[in-house]
Amino acid sequence: MKPGLKMIVLVKQVPEIEKVRFDYEKGRLDRSSAGAVINPFDLNALEAAVQIKEKTGGEITVLSMGPPQAKEALKDALARGADNAVLLTDVKFAGADTLATSYTLSCAVRKLEPFDLILCGEKTIDGDTAQVGPEVAEFLGIPHVAYVEKILDVNENRVVTRSRMERCYYDIEMRFPSLITVTKDANTPRLPTLRDKIKARKAEITIWSADDLSDIAHEAIFGASNSPTRVAKVYAPLSSKRKAVFIKGTTEEKARQIASLLAELVL
Ligand code: FAD
Repeated sequence: MKPGLKMIVLVKQVPEIEKVRFDYEKGRLDRSSAGAVINPFDLNALEAAVQIKEKTGGEITVLSMGPPQAKEALKDALARGADNAVLLTDVKFAGADTLATSYTLSCAVRKLEPFDLILCGEKTIDGDTAQVGPEVAEFLGIPHVAYVEKILDVNENRVVTRSRMERCYYDIEMRFPSLITVTKDANTPRLPTLRDKIKARKAEITIWSADDLSDIAHEAIFGASNSPTRVAKVYAPLSSKRKAVFIKGTTEEKARQIASLLAELVL
């Protein structure tokens, strides 16, 4: 094993959000209407890992759960500085909610053990729940810090992060193994060079199916049928128009009119 920190970056392939269309009949994104890219926040997580590797040395594995096309996202991650890539892909994983997704990812992380630090994006631009990072940490029983805006210090034993929650900054020191989720303010992701892109094209991606996790995982927690949440309906919010009513008269008349308008609204 290389000296330095062993890091795992979780990356999700998402549709290009400016182009993707919504299928109102089926109540879901029509993913075939647009290309796919790495979730932008995951690029910040990867860049944070690459900067840590530049400082402490070590190794970065990118891990994704998704359809076979998600290989492209992993190749992009390799071009941007990751060393290894693992794709979890199987019909048994399909349609997973955040709990089943986090469980499956945490089983793969166990298979990659030992590790020091897991880095995730703060959220995705399609699911947008921000649940997967903290849930993975809970499944693994390790500490985590969410919404990291800055890595203040890192060495082989611990990381010090700054997170912003509402109006406060939290500077938190964590020993390894631990997990952080990273915001877009953490850094500016670097662009891959042409040479790195060509090298990544030829790189091997490790593919794991449900069977490959069978020594660690409970299949009964994979995929849509074992996801405790169900999306009943997805729809665009109704646009409501503002109504303005001009009230004239003496103060007493105005008060009476306001009272009757309010009474109408309550009824
Ligand atoms: P967030 O929690 O917002 O992501 C935070 C971070 O976690 C990311 O930045 C990334 O670092 C990591 N991460 C998240 N997802 C992954 C991943 N897959 N691999 C690696 N790292 C990851 N989605 C579908 O595409 N198809 C479906 O059929 C489908 N069915 C669903 C059915 C139900 C009932 C529900 C509730 C959801 C379904 N989803 C489906 C959405 C699915 O739950 C999410 O794609 C997934 O759980 C991740 O949640 P999120 O996008 O909100 O991630």
